[in-house]
Amino acid sequence: MSAGGPFAGLTIEAARRVLASQLRANGIESPDLDARMLIGAALGLDHTGLATQASRLITGVEETTIVSFTQRRMTHEPVARILGHKEFWGLDLRLSDATLVPRPDTETVVAAALEILQNESRATRALRIVDIGTGSGAILLALLSELPNATGIGTDISMAALATAELNALRLGLAGRSSFVQCDYAAALSGPFDLIVSNPPYIRSAEIASLDRDVRDHDPHLALDGGADGLDAYRVITPQAATLLAPDGVLIFEVGHDQSTQVSALMRTAGLTLSSSPRADLGGTFRAVM
Ligand code: GLN
Repeated sequence: MSAGGPFAGLTIEAARRVLASQLRANGIESPDLDARMLIGAALGLDHTGLATQASRLITGVEETTIVSFTQRRMTHEPVARILGHKEFWGLDLRLSDATLVPRPDTETVVAAALEILQNESRATRALRIVDIGTGSGAILLALLSELPNATGIGTDISMAALATAELNALRLGLAGRSSFVQCDYAAALSGPFDLIVSNPPYIRSAEIASLDRDVRDHDPHLALDGGADGLDAYRVITPQAATLLAPDGVLIFEVGHDQSTQVSALMRTAGLTLSSSPRADLGGTFRAVM
């Protein structure tokens, strides 16, 4: 047992409550859930393990880890970043400093892509997919996990992000159907592709400073900053994609909450036909344009 840290001599249950109240006092939004996740990870216990061992005392080694996790969460570092992984589309994805934490909203892009491919009964074909700015590989790997005949390329400007995406592909058994390329958006690729997806940086530069601290202080700004009006990446990617798509290929973008009209217009300007109306995320915000 360590000499008198804040969690010394406590049971798991008591440590969980102490941590939750510390997080609450520091303005963390979901203190109970976060405390359970951080203590569970520090102790290597899942939900059930935490419940069944609630009355055992935490060890000195465990306390050291809990204290370190606590200090990090107090700076609004997201739990997923502290733990180094996040679930997306049912897949466990490793993260690094170079990748965004995958957002539930982004699952809208995956769902829209699968729906379109299935509607048009292309899902059984050997589809070729590109994910531009793949980060952790979230969108690409989710799609490959659902489409057993598809192969895909993830691009990113960040070598560190590509290393993380590659690791995720390996861990998920998808490395044989995926490859990763460093380039500016899609500049290094030659088509044709059946599906191009992208969640590019789309926050207006001036709005970065007022993002939630969890995002502003811990997500890579390279993956967030979309220039003065937030649309810089779409202006580059849309014409690139238009030349890379197969005749019946589909381009799907994640967009910011107020960008679906402008991004649709950019797509029309590049000669693309809008195939259906934008898809809303679970919060009711238009999130995917295709
Ligand atoms: N959805 C992210 C956020 O809310 C932004 C992601 C992006 O710019 N592509 O911070």
